Amino acid sequence: MADLIIGIVGVAGRMGQALTRAAEAAPGCRVGFASERPGHDMLGRDAGALAGLDPLGVSIGDDAGALFAGADAVLDFTAPAATVAHAALAGETGTVLVTGTTGLEPAQQKAIAEAAKKTVIIQAPNFSVGVNLAMALTERAAAVLADDFDIEIVEMHHRHKVDAPSGTALGLGRAAAAGRGVDLDTVAERGRDGITGARKRGAIGFASLRGGDVIGDHTVIFAGENERVEITHKAGGREIFAAGAVRAALWAAGRKPGLYSMRDVLGLS
Ligand code: NAD
Repeated sequence: MADLIIGIVGVAGRMGQALTRAAEAAPGCRVGFASERPGHDMLGRDAGALAGLDPLGVSIGDDAGALFAGADAVLDFTAPAATVAHAALAGETGTVLVTGTTGLEPAQQKAIAEAAKKTVIIQAPNFSVGVNLAMALTERAAAVLADDFDIEIVEMHHRHKVDAPSGTALGLGRAAAAGRGVDLDTVAERGRDGITGARKRGAIGFASLRGGDVIGDHTVIFAGENERVEITHKAGGREIFAAGAVRAALWAAGRKPGLYSMRDVLGLS
């Protein structure tokens, strides 16, 4: 079977470069197209060389339309507004989109779901296998422990991260809420300061720490009377997200249009 042709948007970013390495390392696919936002310093450079590989003969362009028209699957770890535009292009061209961009507003998320009516979109706040297992365990634990256990989610990331709580922390929160059969938006407590009053029963709390070069640490704490259960994941390198995204692109071949998650890819749903 011919290799899956991968396009990478935002290819000069931290994740973009890791995605180039992962797509070139995985059997069954190769990088055929790469793009960046118009005006980026790296336009015209070779995507492989930029990622520390031998040159791939893939020049970084600024025409996302051409990239979507040519690729079988596009990997997108960019920024919310860019991801909305990329999802629309995926819908128009029928190209598979794998997106890990976090920090989307509800209206932006709705636009992704709309585009997923026309093509396969795989979206996850975290593409690592370990985190997706932690999400499945969190859902199970929340169902078993009920609301006499207080759920708090603590995350730490590097100093450059612009959104909080992390998309992964919110994903863990959604998993916990699903385990309890509630909607996260109605129970989330995102940040406390001052005289907050006593903790509400059933709340799911979030705390975000920022500093240094931490790639991503997450802990879900179930705090009960006389006992605590903690589910922790620590990312040691961006490779885990990039390898998961490439795995998702390969999984997508031949699926029906729809919005899928990494838990679907791993059979953990
Ligand atoms: P980064 O800033 O290093 O890279 C983002 C890249 O996107 C930049 O090179 C930027 O120029 C490019 N970009 C912005 N707008 C664009 C456009 N319109 N067209 C093409 N390219 C565009 O950031 P990063 O650390 O690589 O993270 C990117 C996103 O991925 C963030 O939202 C982050 O939270 C998320 N992320 C998700 C996971 C996951 O597993 N889901 C893992 C790591 C990071």
